[in-house]
Amino acid sequence: MEGLTNLMEETVLRKIDQLWPNTNYCKCNKCRLDIAAYALNRLPAKYVQSFEGAMLHKFETSTMQTDIEITAVVFKAIQLIGEEPHSNMGNRSSEEEEESVKK
Ligand SMILES: [Zn+2]
Repeated sequence: MEGLTNLMEETVLRKIDQLWPNTNYCKCNKCRLDIAAYALNRLPAKYVQSFEGAMLHKFETSTMQTDIEITAVVFKAIQLIGEEPHSNMGNRSSEEEEESVKK
């Protein structure tokens, strides 16, 4: 949306760049987007007006609990997509996931 920035999106992408290079999984752009989509579907959006983008650093360093949660979700996403690349895993909603667990 114009004028708005999702801080969570930027944080997740940065986290992927930190964790992903240490794995042996497929590193194509589709996998990167799948990982980002998977993680972002499971984390709350954090919208700010773009000119507040400089707040990003503060957001990241001041919310340790959030950082731990983001790291855990991104790491799970990297593993899931890495084990089953190019399967549109990132587009599955958490509801569908819970359904498949029940069955
Ligand atoms: Zn790939």
